[in-house]
Amino acid sequence: MSPLRNRGWILPSLIIVLALIVAGLGSAWAALIILALGFAGITAFHLVHLYRLQRWTTSSQEHYVPPPEGIGVWGDTLAALSRRERQRVAFQTMQRRTIEQFYRMAEALPDGVIVLDKHCRIEWANVRAQQWLVLDLGKDRGQSLGNLVRMPEFLRFLTDGEDADVASPDDEAVQTQQQELQQRALVIPAASDAGKVLALQQAPFGQGGRLLLVRDVTQYEAAARLRREFTASVSHELKTPLTVIVGFLETLQETPMSSMSESSRAHYFDLMQTQASGMQRLVDDLLTLSDLESGTRNKEEEWFATTPWLQSLQQQTQALSQGKHIVTLTLPKEETLVHGVHDELASAFTNLLTNAVRYTPEGGKIELSWVIDSKGRGIFTVCDTGIGIAAEHLPRLTERFYRVDRGRSRASGGTGLGLAIVKHVLLHHDGELTVNSQIGKGSAFSVVLPAARVRLVR
Ligand code: ADP
Repeated sequence: MSPLRNRGWILPSLIIVLALIVAGLGSAWAALIILALGFAGITAFHLVHLYRLQRWTTSSQEHYVPPPEGIGVWGDTLAALSRRERQRVAFQTMQRRTIEQFYRMAEALPDGVIVLDKHCRIEWANVRAQQWLVLDLGKDRGQSLGNLVRMPEFLRFLTDGEDADVASPDDEAVQTQQQELQQRALVIPAASDAGKVLALQQAPFGQGGRLLLVRDVTQYEAAARLRREFTASVSHELKTPLTVIVGFLETLQETPMSSMSESSRAHYFDLMQTQASGMQRLVDDLLTLSDLESGTRNKEEEWFATTPWLQSLQQQTQALSQGKHIVTLTLPKEETLVHGVHDELASAFTNLLTNAVRYTPEGGKIELSWVIDSKGRGIFTVCDTGIGIAAEHLPRLTERFYRVDRGRSRASGGTGLGLAIVKHVLLHHDGELTVNSQIGKGSAFSVVLPAARVRLVR
């Protein structure tokens, strides 16, 4: 404030001028009294304002409380203080909201978050991280995380982070090291739940501290395990026929034509043909499965009549059975239409029929039936009088490459993928597969299609 705008000098000046005038008139005592009273009044005025200001400053200032009002020089000063105080409280409120927002955000994350200081002591953790790592922020704040999560690989992971933190962050090599560290994830089982798998990543945070991100990767890990198992199974399935074919080819190469009879050569070619056909079926089934599982499956669904379709499936089954089984078909009185991808449903039903032929000894019966139940659902059943399946195998039948009797499946040309294909086709058609079976008596595989996919033609 400029000295001119500061009105504090006006009153003392007036008192002095008045005292000088009175002194000039010859009354020195009166001038002294005016001076004493005037300055005593001014002092009292300032003391009162100072007292009110002191009371205001020592009161709680969390919310904006206007300072006391004042007059004269105090009016200006207190108004300026009021403005500053309002700004301070607004800034503090904004800061508090930002911090609250940060905590709410960290709590809303699907991941766990832990803030560590430079000695790896816990400063803060969201609820998810506390649950997964069995921490209690109330008790564990300030504790070293390495002492609470007692796993050697976790301690190594934290130590790696420390090494990267120690060096100067300007160093390019250190920056690369820190980036690598952020990308590197430690995968550990969750302390809270044996089935849960967690991936931990760390990043530099604040003053030499670290931010630990904890993600639930149970599903990714399970998918990765399935992929590994699947690759191993496919390799194994292809290895056996390939070994046989390569073996025969070597024999044919090494044996002079003249020393091999026509019939043994034909036998070798027959065996190689069988193995090659098996591989072809396997590759075809793998392609069908991958097509069904791919997210880009773009097949046209349509309404199609069931009677001619099921009759042709019955004929195919008869041809496959080569007259070794009695194949019957039961249809409802009214014609029905089904909504779906014709080729996919045909592939699923054919797999069930092929299995019935494969696993039913000669002379057995295979009954196909298509029934519309009281809820309007369509039920396609393949019932055979075959070898049957023990109850413990039933829950796993639709797993890829799951077979009850590996030798029997292979010998009859099975790939171990048929029921997996059925399962996936039904997933796309909102259908269900139910299996009833008894060892030695036979099996009944039923496909239930929802009423929305079935229509009666009247
Ligand atoms: P596969 O190509 O081996 O037949 P599937 O996935 O079609 O593979 O069937 C899985 C397993 O279920 C078969 O290996 C077989 O053990 C059993 N299975 C399927 N259908 C029948 C059936 N109708 N009777 C007895 N066992 C069956």
